[in-house]
Amino acid sequence: MNDRKHQPLSPELEATLPAVNIDNLIVSIKYYVDEEFAHIQVREHTVCATCGPKPCLDFCPVRVFTQDGQGRILVGYQACVECGSCRIGCPLHNIDWQLPRGGYGVAYKFG
Ligand code: SF4
Ligand code: SF4
Repeated sequence: MNDRKHQPLSPELEATLPAVNIDNLIVSIKYYVDEEFAHIQVREHTVCATCGPKPCLDFCPVRVFTQDGQGRILVGYQACVECGSCRIGCPLHNIDWQLPRGGYGVAYKFG
């Protein structure tokens, strides 16, 4: 579990958010996990060691990124919902992100 502290949004900003519950969306998807190919990887763990804020621990909606006891970033790519935040969220461009191979990944249910 991520126990990092977050600043609450102001009431004005909170009022602009759409009434979407991400938990409800996440339970309505199916995963087709590719156990032989990790479509997300940290490029260099030595770079992560120099990354102060480590925003990957916060921006992923399904907490794909976690830290082990030594502070090393772990990537649980199997849970990825392909939101794309990895492509822009790492300040050091240290995440290698690709779409899953054909036939794998998440399937969203709409309607
Ligand atoms: S944000 Fe990028 S550089 Fe920083 S810890 Fe996460 S993966 Fe590593
Ligand atoms: S693409 Fe989105 S869901 Fe997948 S690991 Fe990156 S931030 Fe998490």
